[in-house]
Amino acid sequence: MNNTETVFIDGSTGEGGGQILRTSLALSCITGRSLHIENIRAARRNPGLAKQHLSCVQAACQICNGKCQGAARGSQVLDFQPGSIQSGEFYFDIGSAGSASLVIQTVLPALFLADKPSTITVTGGTHNPLAPPFDFLSGTFLPAIATAGFQANCKLIKHGFYPAGGGKITCDIQPWQKQSHQAINICQPSPAPIRREPGSMGAGFQIHALVYTAKLPAHIAQRQRKLLLQSGLNIQNIQHIEATDSEGPGNCVMIRLCGTDRTTVFTAFGMRGKPSQEVVSEVVNLAKDFLASGAAVDRFLADQILIYMAISKAGSYTTNELSTHLLTNMEIIKKFLPVNFNVHRQEQNYSISCQPAMEHSNREM
Ligand code: AMP
Repeated sequence: MNNTETVFIDGSTGEGGGQILRTSLALSCITGRSLHIENIRAARRNPGLAKQHLSCVQAACQICNGKCQGAARGSQVLDFQPGSIQSGEFYFDIGSAGSASLVIQTVLPALFLADKPSTITVTGGTHNPLAPPFDFLSGTFLPAIATAGFQANCKLIKHGFYPAGGGKITCDIQPWQKQSHQAINICQPSPAPIRREPGSMGAGFQIHALVYTAKLPAHIAQRQRKLLLQSGLNIQNIQHIEATDSEGPGNCVMIRLCGTDRTTVFTAFGMRGKPSQEVVSEVVNLAKDFLASGAAVDRFLADQILIYMAISKAGSYTTNELSTHLLTNMEIIKKFLPVNFNVHRQEQNYSISCQPAMEHSNREM
């Protein structure tokens, strides 16, 4: 295989969602290989490119002087030809409540491999269901990849809840310090071990909760606070953030598990017709399952850090769930980069590691 060979991706494989597109765009940019993708988001209710995905395509084109065909709303086929990666200041406007975090995640790998720092500003959704909320991006994801020398900082400029959007995030990205980097190695819970008695669940972690509301009556946050106090988690404090800058209504409840060297953020979103009881149980159950498992990496971070392990051709972590996002992302990454992933069952958890495979002749990284 040589670096002029186009990579063909079937977007209906595995999870069949937007991540297949975003990972493919990111890896096309960094390997210099052209991408042909069909059946984009075939497993979703509204297949094809939605505004967020279109913004990812346009952002990828901009940061690597790329050319593309098929970049239109609803398109299920895309041809993307990357040029050379540019550092600089970029502004991407999603024009809907599409997730700003996911647009940032699409261009981050290439901007880490640029020769100079970059700054990107994205307007759109900052707190969206089914995507990393800003707090996860800045509190969980960026610190995790920083352990392998990928340094970036994000700032929330304005809240944007789904469905109104209108939020803003900026992100400063430093070139990857390849010489000084270490591999991602997140295998032990932080700190270990945790106790499992129901009354003291999470002992050893600092557990904080956040209730976000925007343009909603005060009783919602009060009720969610009460439910968090009854959750059986040893929550040290509950903060209510009223997002007064938000253009539309919004609500989410977050649980932050703060260990000595990392923070895991779980989120559940409120929406019209969804009782607070359900919102709080959803986030509490995510946190409880994770705590009880003794795994080091949550199910969301688990699929998002694979690409950075693949770039550094090394790394390992433990997680409590093998999501289809995770398994699908491994398959997509292997189509672009000369790596293999190993998955080992360890009691109720999984240990994931990445190793170099046979050399391809991709763009030098
Ligand atoms: P897709 O559904 O293919 O567009 O991919 C969604 C991405 O968002 C995946 O990388 C998920 O790990 C991530 N994601 C979804 N929900 C959350 C959440 N609550 N916290 C963090 N990341 C999330």
